[in-house]
Amino acid sequence: MPKLLERLVRPQIRALAAYHVPDAAGIIKLDAMENPYTWPEELRRDWLRVLENISLNRYPDPRASDLQAALRESMGIPDSMGLLLGNGSDELIQMLMLAVAQRGCSVVSVAPGFVMYRMIALSAASEYVGVPLHAGDFSLDLPAVLAAMAKEQPAITFLAYPNNPTGNLFDSDALVRIIEAAPGLVVIDEAYAPFTDRSFLPHLGRWPNLLVMRTLSKMGLAGLRIGYLVGPRDWLTEIDKIRLPYNINVLTQASAAFALHHRDVLDRQTRLIREERSRLFAALAGLEGIHPYPSDANFILARMPVGRAAEIFETLLSAGVLVKNLDGSQPLLEDCLRVTVGRPQENDAFLAALESAL
Ligand code: PMP
Repeated sequence: MPKLLERLVRPQIRALAAYHVPDAAGIIKLDAMENPYTWPEELRRDWLRVLENISLNRYPDPRASDLQAALRESMGIPDSMGLLLGNGSDELIQMLMLAVAQRGCSVVSVAPGFVMYRMIALSAASEYVGVPLHAGDFSLDLPAVLAAMAKEQPAITFLAYPNNPTGNLFDSDALVRIIEAAPGLVVIDEAYAPFTDRSFLPHLGRWPNLLVMRTLSKMGLAGLRIGYLVGPRDWLTEIDKIRLPYNINVLTQASAAFALHHRDVLDRQTRLIREERSRLFAALAGLEGIHPYPSDANFILARMPVGRAAEIFETLLSAGVLVKNLDGSQPLLEDCLRVTVGRPQENDAFLAALESAL
């Protein structure tokens, strides 16, 4: 390796692998927790009319005011709370980290947890500690999280609710204990909020160190890249200083606001996904040797027969179905695949391919 590169790029960065996105052209894509549904023809036409009037030669509204107003109304965000938009919630995680990172800074989350907390913490020259969940049901090991927080004194504790890649909701009383014991910020990541009835959004303001992060990606707008962070205004004022001035482009601002004004369409799709989740779970549970884990998200984690996950993943791929192979990524995820809930026909194709692989 060239000496200069070694000197300039930190070992932490050199040890990382860039986030890998597999090619999914022409196959059934059940790997990335996307909403599989598109919009009705008439809605697409109305949306294109909105786009027609956008000035591409001008910079976007730096505050994305119309979209902010649409989000506040659509999601019931109280006026007393601040709201900050990111180019996906990934960017919000980065802004949060850059706002607090300093020598010796650390981040705590759980293992298995969402991979970007670790990647972004390391890229911001911070330490990352993932506290193992209970093997068996992936519930929180509360004493272990409290002990890690006491030891590491994390600037931020990230907890996804429901959790990715396990799909479960952590016990809300345990989360309250964590918020109350945390020496720093606690970010409850509700990326999968559309698929559960539980949320910490109504509890914002009860604790000065609680922020709630969400995204429009899983509601059906993954291509637009909109994440939003809600919480006490003093925190968001500081984090906003890290935001690049025009982080939400004009097409995204207009398209997301338009979509939120037609939320009924997105909500109908979410309901279909929830129904399909139940059907897919029951079908997986009925397959000999497969152990699916209950999910409050739009995906299901399932354990394959011992030692067979990689081979089953490949067989599914040759049958034209892409899922996520988590085997080998993490001790607790041995033999596990994660499948996103797709359209009924896509789920049927997945189930048929899985059955024949078994
Ligand atoms: N948080 C969690 C828990 C996720 O699973 C994801 C995406 N898979 C994100 C955040 C990032 O979402 P986005 O950047 O699309 O808003």
